[in-house]
Amino acid sequence: MKIAVISDIHANLVALEKVLVSIREYQCDMIVCLGDIVGYGPKPNECIQMVEKAADIVLLGNHDYAAIGLMNVDSFNTFASQAIQWTRQQLTPENAKYLQQLPVEKSWQECFFVHASPCNPDFWNYVLSPREAETEFECFEQQLCFIGHSHYPLVFSYHPKMGVNKESSVKMVLEKEKRYIINVGSVGQPRDNNPEASWVLYDRDHALLKRLRISYPVEIVQDQMRDHHLPPFLIERLSHGR
Ligand code: ZN
Repeated sequence: MKIAVISDIHANLVALEKVLVSIREYQCDMIVCLGDIVGYGPKPNECIQMVEKAADIVLLGNHDYAAIGLMNVDSFNTFASQAIQWTRQQLTPENAKYLQQLPVEKSWQECFFVHASPCNPDFWNYVLSPREAETEFECFEQQLCFIGHSHYPLVFSYHPKMGVNKESSVKMVLEKEKRYIINVGSVGQPRDNNPEASWVLYDRDHALLKRLRISYPVEIVQDQMRDHHLPPFLIERLSHGR
């Protein structure tokens, strides 16, 4: 069984479509979306509808939460908050309702899924360093925890004797004695200096994890963002993956 895990689409329909094509090529049996379907990008309604149709498990992210008015945008930077105001005006009542009923965490077999961090899923903390990961490993029991939120794809492993390690390989065999926190990166707004859309393939039968990057025509999304007068900073960053 193959599971595709995606996150942080941020209303980037062009990137989402490309990633879904790639997922289909790998013949995945299940798709999990870790949230932030909207915010920043130009096609919030279209992305919600596509995720709703394609994904088996969908979680709520902080931008989704803000877009339906459940959270104020004080903690967001100016550009993110401008994009959220715009997104709020765009969302159809049906799509807003869909976001509203999404859970912030989900447990499935040996996997725990969450948008930000396993310890406090709705505190929207980042897990970027081995030290931060160490605390987070204590907050779930499953072997694997898939996260998004930072837009930075990375994997932490934990072994009772060796502690926490940052794993750098793109393709890895998961070891039985280890547990893992896997950040799947972002489909619609990567921030690791690589503009290509990110997703993760988990092959359960072979305990294999593969991190993938998919190129897409960034300039099409940038034109769509200009049409809606979204902040130039958000448009520009897509070219650089920052
Ligand atoms: Zn995000």
